Amino acid sequence: MRRERKRIALQRIHHLFRQAERRAYENRLDLATRYVVLARKLAMRYLVRMPREYKRRFCKNCYFYLVPGKNCRVRLKKHKVVVTCLNCGEIMRYPYLREIKERRRNAGKD
Ligand SMILES: [Zn+2]
Repeated sequence: MRRERKRIALQRIHHLFRQAERRAYENRLDLATRYVVLARKLAMRYLVRMPREYKRRFCKNCYFYLVPGKNCRVRLKKHKVVVTCLNCGEIMRYPYLREIKERRRNAGKD
């Protein structure tokens, strides 16, 4: 039954991020952030991994929903994507290689 519960938790996480995205679009970053926090709580409670597509959508320090150019700064540095949360100043670095691979994969989808 645990697997079933995890599946449902994951569905709810997807749902919450869809809501967060919509709120962010409406400029309600406060609400978007609340959805992020809820999604994170679910992930922790049911021990499901946060889907990769969402991992970078929020600040890992203050959980602020991140919108490039709005509340976070995105820079490319030495093959890394450097994301600065403008709410708390947290700096997150991701290897750029994955970015390239992702783009390639997405390009293949279209
Ligand atoms: Zn932050």
